[in-house]
Amino acid sequence: MTESTDVVVVGAGVIGSSIALELARSGLRVVVVDRFGGAGNGSTSASSAVVRFTYPTIAGVIAAWESRHCWEAWRDHLQAPASEPLAAFNRCGVTMLDVDLAPCGMFTRHFDKVGVPYEKWGARELSRRLPAVDTGRYFPPRPVDDDEFFAHASARLGALHTPDGGFVDDPQLAAYNLATAAQRHGADLRWKTTVTAVMRRGGRVRGVRLNDGTELSAGVVVNAAGPWSGQLNRLAEVGDDFTVGLRPLRQEVHHVAAPAGYRDTGGDGHTPVLLDMDLGTYIRPEGREFLLVGGTEPECDPLEWLDDPDDGSPTPTGSQFRTQVTRAARRLPGLRVPNKPKGVAGVYDVTDDWTPVYDRTDLAGFYVAIGTSGNQFKNAPLVGRLMTTLIHGVEAGHDHDRSALTHTCEHTGQTIDLGAFSRRRRPAASTGTVLG
Ligand SMILES: Cc1cc2nc3c(=O)[nH]c(=O)nc-3n(C[C@H](O)[C@H](O)[C@H](O)COP(=O)(O)OP(=O)(O)OC[C@H]3O[C@@H](n4cnc5c(N)ncnc54)[C@H](O)[C@@H]3O)c2cc1C
Repeated sequence: MTESTDVVVVGAGVIGSSIALELARSGLRVVVVDRFGGAGNGSTSASSAVVRFTYPTIAGVIAAWESRHCWEAWRDHLQAPASEPLAAFNRCGVTMLDVDLAPCGMFTRHFDKVGVPYEKWGARELSRRLPAVDTGRYFPPRPVDDDEFFAHASARLGALHTPDGGFVDDPQLAAYNLATAAQRHGADLRWKTTVTAVMRRGGRVRGVRLNDGTELSAGVVVNAAGPWSGQLNRLAEVGDDFTVGLRPLRQEVHHVAAPAGYRDTGGDGHTPVLLDMDLGTYIRPEGREFLLVGGTEPECDPLEWLDDPDDGSPTPTGSQFRTQVTRAARRLPGLRVPNKPKGVAGVYDVTDDWTPVYDRTDLAGFYVAIGTSGNQFKNAPLVGRLMTTLIHGVEAGHDHDRSALTHTCEHTGQTIDLGAFSRRRRPAASTGTVLG
């Protein structure tokens, strides 16, 4: 059977669903296909969904700052009816410890230009604001069985606090909200449907073949396949001109009870997200009683790169749980480290510079929104819009490789240079971690 549409979006994670919404809004006929049974069931479902602005590039800061305005006005962003249950943005603030690897100045120089409000706290102020936090400097992060792990602090740390940061309480629901909004604008969503071939004619994409044999012809195909994006690129025979590589990385996030002294300690009745590259961890509130604990890929930890994203175990391991939660307990001395691991495992789609690729490819009509490197959930609302700017511009004949398109943000008025996300970029400034 052969069917036709204007655009096929492969993947209904938070990124593909947002792209589908904005392309449908722009008047195109969109079909979204996903191998799972609904939106947001891939890596999006494991996301910690932290909304922070601390990216080492100005494009990263603008993208996160603009998107945060979309999360805050989520119902308006989606044009959703009042009765529809939506994911919610929790503005609890984000406190990033000031470490040599990623000093405050790396971010504040961009914040000043973009207009992101922030506060710089010395160690004394950090103690005053978050009394449950040990302000010791323990760098570099070490395995928890290392004799030096419990060594005395070498100094005291301050922090960079952004009161407007926070997290989205249900990342899978956020993807579902976007997919539902796309459907309201006419997008056709197909679940349990896998793209098995990318069809081409001459140097141009012609559509995709699905696992039931259907040929879906389309002038535009968007790869939003998350950690499976490399597989889809191989089907499309694109990637040779990429200057940044892509690899799936398994990663765990753990779930623990919050120590009593850490609840509601950040002012305004909120506990902030704490980013701690000094010990190699991050800590996010999960309701009032619990915390999520993730990692920031410290050099001492082996990384679990996968050849196939489906190879990674979906359940947390005892050893990673003990490592990450013990580090968190060093920072929050009231935190207990349970014996039994609890949490989730997901897969990042990591580029060499931990910056995503939002671009065309050398196969005309085949676009990529990939390499989200464990840090692009927050930017999904904008990614839909910038991919729409890109696709309309390139399809109208603009040579984006020669002269990069720009996107003007609706809420902040900032202009973002889309060349920052080029597949052919010189590797971007990066912390070499999930922070970008
Ligand atoms: C543990 C973890 C914690 C994270 N924490 C944060 C955070 O705090 N803040 C932040 O901003 N970001 C975070 N991220 C990153 C963020 O969640 C991802 O960048 C984002 O969810 C990626 O969305 P996606 O739509 O690209 O991918 P996915 O959600 O993986 O969606 C891709 C979809 O493509 C489908 N697919 C793939 N191949 C095919 C095919 N051939 N045919 C049909 N369908 C296909 C899959 O079924 C899947 O549903 C985290 C990620 C993880 C894993």
